[in-house]
Amino acid sequence: MSYRAWFQCINEKCGTTYPLNAIVYHCKQCNALLEVRHDMHALARRDAMGWMKLFEDRYKSTQWPYGSGVWGKKEWVLPELKDDNVVSLYEGGTNLFWAERFGKLFGLDDLWIKLCGNTHSGSFKDLGMTVLVSQVKQMISEGAPIKAVACASTGDTSAALAVYCAAAGIQSIVLLPKGKISTAQLVQPIANGALVLQLDTDFDGCMKVVQEITKDETIYLANSMNSLRIEGQKTVGIEIVQQFDWEAPDVIIIPGGNLGNVSALGNGLLMMRDLGLIATLPRIVVAQAQRANPLYRAYQRNFESYEPMQAEKTLASAIQIGHPVSIEKAIRVLKQFNGMVEQATEEELADAAALGDKTGMFNCPHTGVALAAMIKLLKAGKIDKAERVVVISPAHGLKFTDFKVRSHERRLEFPCRYANIPLELPPTVAAVKEALRNALEQRTPPDA
Ligand SMILES: *Cc1c(COP(=O)(O)O)cnc(C)c1O
Ligand SMILES: [Zn+2]
Repeated sequence: MSYRAWFQCINEKCGTTYPLNAIVYHCKQCNALLEVRHDMHALARRDAMGWMKLFEDRYKSTQWPYGSGVWGKKEWVLPELKDDNVVSLYEGGTNLFWAERFGKLFGLDDLWIKLCGNTHSGSFKDLGMTVLVSQVKQMISEGAPIKAVACASTGDTSAALAVYCAAAGIQSIVLLPKGKISTAQLVQPIANGALVLQLDTDFDGCMKVVQEITKDETIYLANSMNSLRIEGQKTVGIEIVQQFDWEAPDVIIIPGGNLGNVSALGNGLLMMRDLGLIATLPRIVVAQAQRANPLYRAYQRNFESYEPMQAEKTLASAIQIGHPVSIEKAIRVLKQFNGMVEQATEEELADAAALGDKTGMFNCPHTGVALAAMIKLLKAGKIDKAERVVVISPAHGLKFTDFKVRSHERRLEFPCRYANIPLELPPTVAAVKEALRNALEQRTPPDA
């Protein structure tokens, strides 16, 4: 069976197409972003049951590369890629955590956290990067003059790019805002042999520079402006539905910065609907940090206008973005999904993350943003307690231990009401017993 995919200009009046092996990030006719389009007629020749069975058979199997959560859906992702060129680290297939105790605090029985950080480089960026680096490997094998792959990053994109390139034997270049990413995130590309360039600017500043240097076709651009990334990232929504035995949840909440991931989430779900795998679409909620909330501001104006902004420093460093590249795609998806946008202050995101941890999660600050948004929407009656809600947790908490340590040491700019401070004691049984007595008598249950 021959399935096909190509780049197409998102501007419907233009619609110019380009092959996937062209080195092109914007439409050459009208400068709009591109997206990957699939031959849906060809895909529709297999019925919904057939797709579900195929995806089930492959899910987490050892049948390389189909056990990967992304490549198990290869026909929907990059159908024409040769298996030999797949660069996979067995991404996807991440677990859904039933947030029973956290949900109950807010009257919600059916709350699930999609732990996308339980993956090779520790964030959901793996889903898109496997696709981009695989396509680059194929292009190099066809003789394309690519010498390196480059990205600007708030930390997780560079970690994913560096490790996939290392696995493929391709040079990576990462541009990072100096002093604005966590130590763990900085160490990742260093360890994986990337050329690490720290610039004294913010993410938006790095983005400008990387767009210039990748005008040279020997340096391929790996930011999500390159819609190959979106193709892998879109499997997250498909996988969530699959994990619920092919039933779409009512609401999916995702933290948003550059807004490629929300666009991808929408695309995957739309593909499922168009091919008959689901009948209804969930509502999508984008959660933003109040200090970097251009989408939230546009939502307040019913998407009638959008203004880029100067993002301010936020604990949710991976979404500290004032001028999101995929804003148009995100707005289009939110309109199709009856979507909402909610924001969280620094205190709200830190408290939500810490409270989640007390119920068995281990949250990154961005998951805190999503949980805080959920709490606010529940209180406002915009999410119903009877609904099935899935929160996408984009990264592993271990990448953000500094944030956690500071919050437990009460070194943030607000009270940190869930701080848990270690006791320092002399090494005697008496001192320990005394401490236990005090602690266990006073201690209120963790959710009080
Ligand atoms: C990339 C990232 C996001 C935001 O995804 P966008 O596609 O940029 O909106 C959120 N959280 C984490 C941890 C990320 O790495
Ligand atoms: Zn165009």
